[in-house]
Amino acid sequence: MKRDRNVKIVATLGPASDDYKMIRALHEAGADVFRLNMSHGDHEEIRIRHGIIRQVEKDLDSPICILADLQGPKLRVGVFANDAGEDLEVGQSFRLDLDDAPGTNERVQLPHKEIFDALEPGAHLLVNDGKIKLKVKDCGRDFADCEVLVGGTISNRKGVNVPDVVLPLAALSEKDRRDLEFVCELGVDWLALSFVQRPADVEEARKLAKGRAALLSKIEKPAAVKAFDDILAVSDGIMVARGDLGVELPVQNVPPIQKRLILKCREAAKPVIVATQMLESMIESPMPTRAEVSDVATAIYEGTDAIMLSAESAAGDFPIEAVTTMNNVAIEVEADPTYTEMVEATRQTSGKTVANGIVAAAREIAETADIKAICCYSQSGTTALLTARERPRVPIMVLSSDIATVRRLALSWGTNCVMVVKVVDRFKTAVIEAVRAVKASGIAEASDMVVVTAGVPFNTPGSTNILRVAPCEERLIFSGE
Ligand code: PGA
Ligand code: MN
Repeated sequence: MKRDRNVKIVATLGPASDDYKMIRALHEAGADVFRLNMSHGDHEEIRIRHGIIRQVEKDLDSPICILADLQGPKLRVGVFANDAGEDLEVGQSFRLDLDDAPGTNERVQLPHKEIFDALEPGAHLLVNDGKIKLKVKDCGRDFADCEVLVGGTISNRKGVNVPDVVLPLAALSEKDRRDLEFVCELGVDWLALSFVQRPADVEEARKLAKGRAALLSKIEKPAAVKAFDDILAVSDGIMVARGDLGVELPVQNVPPIQKRLILKCREAAKPVIVATQMLESMIESPMPTRAEVSDVATAIYEGTDAIMLSAESAAGDFPIEAVTTMNNVAIEVEADPTYTEMVEATRQTSGKTVANGIVAAAREIAETADIKAICCYSQSGTTALLTARERPRVPIMVLSSDIATVRRLALSWGTNCVMVVKVVDRFKTAVIEAVRAVKASGIAEASDMVVVTAGVPFNTPGSTNILRVAPCEERLIFSGE
């Protein structure tokens, strides 16, 4: 679906957005990517949502990207004798252990044996999104005696974060492995990996995914921030997962990390999503706060590829309004000359290759002369990503005959993708197809000019080596040749 903006919108699906009518309305309102959260919903629910998305895609003839988010090694306490949980007071002691007996005000199970081996006195444990803070006083192979530093209510299966320690946990739990196989068989475009700690975590997932989905690493652990360059090198995309990141690190550390990660992803030509609490108040209100609007705008000014809705679209009362708000903010920001200045001042380029030269030249020409679009014929998506990295002022039209490429690119800044049914094996055909696509989408008319790039031999990733300025009048394209 043609959008009036370059930044992309990811909407998480959930109970508030699980029927055909709503999912279609969300796509029409601006959601380019749907996120299936494997932490909630059983396989049957996921299968139904997946089927609905593909149906909407077919009915609207508009490629839609699906991102399946694996839960990852998320730690949770066991259950309490009292369903309402227990109130922990500052200064009291509280024990975590491996005993599955129901919890009390003095102890509860933490059913992760590996954690006790890694804990040391002085380490901090955060419970329930960081609301409760515990400090380890003494620990052994099957227990940790803690002092409560910040009190609150602890109840059944609340999440536990251990920021100070690189956890000796497998990147993918048994559940993650089952979920990964399930969604890869269903057919998803991206897999998001939660609580990535090291590059090896991504490599492990890549072995299991076997090319069926691209891999996005969620940066939500201090260890992942430290090892970011190496993690980025082995990932296809990144999510700045501000929710858990703001629990594991002081919240004030999140904005600088967001800025740095966006710049690095842009340099690597890999898509980055800014996620969590972007329009949090819209879970219950049809109007966002000014601060939220400003947060969404900031991420766009920073040049992010995508912005994400979590509970706002999955479980809130106003999913469509939330998508519409993001769409409107994006249109306004991108029309601001300061946006163009900021994005161009932070343009990232690296790599001295022919393909890099061609995409930079395409942008130069498009911005120097009156050119309506940059069209790139990209089978694997590599050239499309390099073109997007240039953040050109004119629309990018990507042509591919691979539906997987087209869907994956929906997460990347500025890409308008169309499927070419015919396998293009000559540059002439590529130009004709490109011209047809820009005219059909209303980006250009017969009297306009476009830039077309492609690589010969065709269908070799990253082989971009041809640039052509073409008129959109078909009979003029190759007249005289
Ligand atoms: P989550 O990840 O929504 O799966 O927790 C995003 C985040 O932590 O910000
Ligand atoms: Mn998270």
